[in-house]
Amino acid sequence: MEAVSFHAGSTGTAVIGAGHAGIEAALASARMGVDTVLFTMSLDAVGNMPCNPSVGGSGKGHLVCEIDALGGEMGRAADTVCLQSRLLNMGKGPAVHSLREQSDRRTYQAYMKSVIENTPNLRLIQAEIVSVERNGSGGLTVTTRFGAQYDAVSAVVCSGTYLNADIVVGDVMYRAGPDNLYPADYLTDSLKKLGIEFMRFKTGTPPRIHADSIDYSELEVQKGDVPPRPFSYYTDREAFAEREMLPCYIVYTNERTHEIIRNNIDRSPLYSGRIKSTGPRYCPSIEDKVMRFADKKRHQLFLEPMGRDTKEVYVQGLSSSLPEDVQIQVLHSIKGLENARVMRTAYAIEYDCIDPTQLDAGLEFKVVPGLFGAGQFNGTSGYEEAAAQGIVAGINAALRVQGREKMILTRVSSYIGTLIDDLVTKGTNEPYRIMTSRCEYRLLLRQDNADRRLIEYGRRAGLIDDERYENKHKLFAEIDGEIKRANTTFLPPSDELNALLESYSSARVTTGVRLADLIRRPELNYAALSPVDPTRPDLPDEVFERAGIEIKYEGYIKREENEARAFSKLENKLLPEDIDYKSIKGLRLEAGIKLDKIRPKSLGQASRISGVSPADITVLIIYLNMQ
Ligand SMILES: Cc1cc2nc3c(=O)[nH]c(=O)nc-3n(C[C@H](O)[C@H](O)[C@H](O)COP(=O)(O)OP(=O)(O)OC[C@H]3O[C@@H](n4cnc5c(N)ncnc54)[C@H](O)[C@@H]3O)c2cc1C
Repeated sequence: MEAVSFHAGSTGTAVIGAGHAGIEAALASARMGVDTVLFTMSLDAVGNMPCNPSVGGSGKGHLVCEIDALGGEMGRAADTVCLQSRLLNMGKGPAVHSLREQSDRRTYQAYMKSVIENTPNLRLIQAEIVSVERNGSGGLTVTTRFGAQYDAVSAVVCSGTYLNADIVVGDVMYRAGPDNLYPADYLTDSLKKLGIEFMRFKTGTPPRIHADSIDYSELEVQKGDVPPRPFSYYTDREAFAEREMLPCYIVYTNERTHEIIRNNIDRSPLYSGRIKSTGPRYCPSIEDKVMRFADKKRHQLFLEPMGRDTKEVYVQGLSSSLPEDVQIQVLHSIKGLENARVMRTAYAIEYDCIDPTQLDAGLEFKVVPGLFGAGQFNGTSGYEEAAAQGIVAGINAALRVQGREKMILTRVSSYIGTLIDDLVTKGTNEPYRIMTSRCEYRLLLRQDNADRRLIEYGRRAGLIDDERYENKHKLFAEIDGEIKRANTTFLPPSDELNALLESYSSARVTTGVRLADLIRRPELNYAALSPVDPTRPDLPDEVFERAGIEIKYEGYIKREENEARAFSKLENKLLPEDIDYKSIKGLRLEAGIKLDKIRPKSLGQASRISGVSPADITVLIIYLNMQ
């Protein structure tokens, strides 16, 4: 039965979906002073974590720090509900140091809902959006299932894994969203009428088991860092360090587990062909791991707490869509889980998402001005990837309402810029997950300097207040001052200095030495040298940590800066919007078709389109020079 539609109001930005993308989009738009309405299927699932109860991880930690630097909320939320904090990849260089926090799932949702409810200019409404249409005033009209119509200048679609979502477990498939929440069955068709093309992707999640059914007696414990590190500028580090943190545990599959899976592989919807859509290669199901890495004797799994006031434990690494009876056999074959009681069955979910090459670098649809996309809807996977796109789409939706220029983050500015450029230039044929290896300028785009790289963008958007802006610039000046001091401070050769150097198996000195030159030695750092550095100013540890990285990696950083400059040169070579690629002599047919479809903004972006060769770029440069 179709609802009778009625005009329910107007707004600046309409955001569809209060998941990780929609929350950041709506908060950004409202905090920029734009009237914003956030629609979502269920107010009880705002900020839901349908998969791993954690924020951050390799590459993902960079995104969270960048969202925080822009004035977003995810980092602060994660710190507030943190159960454990670990800085990953500490055995490697600072470029890949990535923070990961275990999150209390229920309090994360409550925190985010409360922030939204207390944000001026922002209305949160429980409603399913069934259509988005162009309206007569150059804007868009979104309509709810009950017929309420809202006119908006900008709209952001952040529908996640809900569009025509199907849950699959063994031979069972039924229409439902994550955690058996209601799916969104109408929006895809409406967006198709606007000329938007869709794909079908899949992802999966592991079982949740009852903590009291686990035999912890012989399990490896994995504790968090002491002191724990927070993500956000706003988090009080001392109070954060005082918080009681919870452990995770490590278990392993074994030959028996693998045998059970192999013996039942024909009942797996992934291998029986029931699931036809594409899943994330970098988050494989246990079936895939056993079948693809047959030589591996065991696979590591993590038992992660889902909250302080729940017995639910997340079995990370055991994502599956095998029938429930097989899942239970698999669990009981694992040491420590012989009597595990399942609270939530593992499942796979198939859903509609778009081909992101239909978006520009500001995440606006090329064919529907004013309509933006963010999150899993754009073909990515992960809370952090979603939130990163959400804040960019939200800022640009609001800038459109304010009649201001779009914010574009490039590959040399951030992981967010790299993620978005990968999506809109190369597209993706599986749920896209960020990784440090996707980034060309890892040493420039570290977690620790996210604030310095992005604060001006957040400031221009209106998301960074004066106090924070001044505090940050004071910190930057302290870091620069300290780097200068280290490069101009000479330590005379002394018994004390040489005794200290020997204690770190570092070469003795016979003449005066610059403090910076000692810091550059791999075996030394600021902490080690403090006893012989009498003029060291009383500054926060963060200043020395960050100055230490800049000094130690100065050569590599300079080299990457040169490469980034070369990149920006091509990036600044803009391409006319109306160029007729198919008529350019010498340009290969495939390249012409690809360029015509993606309509790159610059020569740099054109050079990254798959199927466009360096020779094609040369033809383009010659063509442009003749214009
Ligand atoms: C089963 C499962 C397994 C996953 N496994 C992984 C994994 O292994 N690794 C990983 O990184 N990520 C995984 N994820 C993905 C992760 O959950 C998502 O990436 C993240 O939640 C995406 O955030 P989002 O904001 O784009 O969408 P979501 O968090 O899905 O939020 C979408 C929101 O939109 C609302 N909505 C949808 N349609 C409408 C509509 N028409 N009208 C109004 N509201 C609407 C919904 O109610 C929901 O609140 C998994 C997700 C699921 C469901």
